[in-house]
Amino acid sequence: MTEIKSLLFDELQTKLQALDEPVYRASQIMDWVYKKQAGGFEKMSDLPRTLRTQLAQNFSMGKLDVVRVFGSRDTTRKFLFRLGDGNLIESVLIPASPALYGQKSDRQTACVSTQVGCAYGCKFCASGLDGFSRNLRANEIVDQIIAIERASGEKIDNIVFMGMGEPLANFGNVMRAIRILNAPWGLGIGARHITVSTSGLAPQIKKLADEPLQIRLAISLHGATDEVRNQIMPINRRYNLETLLSACDYYVERKKQRLTFEYILIASVNDTDEQAHLLARHAHRFSAKVNLIPYNTVQGLPWLRPSQNCQEKFLSILRTHGIPATLRREKGGDIDAACGQLRLQTKRMQGRHPERRAPESPVALPSK
Ligand code: SAH
Ligand code: SF4
Repeated sequence: MTEIKSLLFDELQTKLQALDEPVYRASQIMDWVYKKQAGGFEKMSDLPRTLRTQLAQNFSMGKLDVVRVFGSRDTTRKFLFRLGDGNLIESVLIPASPALYGQKSDRQTACVSTQVGCAYGCKFCASGLDGFSRNLRANEIVDQIIAIERASGEKIDNIVFMGMGEPLANFGNVMRAIRILNAPWGLGIGARHITVSTSGLAPQIKKLADEPLQIRLAISLHGATDEVRNQIMPINRRYNLETLLSACDYYVERKKQRLTFEYILIASVNDTDEQAHLLARHAHRFSAKVNLIPYNTVQGLPWLRPSQNCQEKFLSILRTHGIPATLRREKGGDIDAACGQLRLQTKRMQGRHPERRAPESPVALPSK
């Protein structure tokens, strides 16, 4: 059966034609799915009963089960979802400015997953620890946003593909989901408010550059030399730094767009002055922005975040070179919001590593 939330508008029209239904029904159906977010075909009350029955016979409309929700002091919330086949994935809701005094924050960002696990095995990352299970389908990506909106009562207007998995390794499904998220008949989120993050799949970066949508691209650099990247990111042995950077050249040339370099600061690995100077050189080459992220420790992994002083020094070197750089005060650090960590804990709690306990208990779902 075709999953309705994997279909583009013209594909639904074609399917309706094949069922001898008028094509204008497509707008009504998409409206129910994305604007009114009806959970089932029977709820589409302005469609003839016979059509609703036919839709139910020909299409499925999945939804994600919320397994747990963690809230944190700065109102970042993390969701653990169960997919139809039992696999677990996670997504995070990050308000732009903390709603400290009860007022609404101005922008709601969803950080979504694209795969169950990850095959790229970066040494510092929880997502890769359990290996790779499978790609998410387009509807499973779209459903993360719908489920977060439903559970939080917030409208998402910014999306980052920085959850579990490597988005560019699931290119087709991710692009399809982005079209649905962006479309006026879909969730209507502006392309400039959608950011894809990659650990450095050079050929796919070029492929992305040839796509017409003006979405944003973030590169997880985490090292300014092959030596450092090789130590923590196995992908660098396939596409070394210069191969990655020339793919970025191509991207910037085609898109006329600014890149962002993500750079996790890990103590004694990539936090030296020399790395900061070299990183500034790379950023300068693309007029890129740099986001410094203090490393979030992962249970069972040896890496640590550098001292505050060391973080500030790294930032100041970038600034001396005139690079626009920010040092992220980790949002959600207290709920293990970094990539793959909540799922890992839950799996451990489910008996794979029964000696380890999750450090926090879930909070109740906020009512709408
Ligand atoms: N696979 C893609 C997107 C998902 S990871 C990529 O690697 O870019 C999203 C970001 O979270 C990446 O920059 C990744 O390096 C970072 N990340 C992973 N584990 C982390 C941790 N423990 N602390 C801080 N950031 C982490
Ligand atoms: Fe995969 Fe990204 Fe984690 Fe690397 S950092 S293991 S590419 S999810």
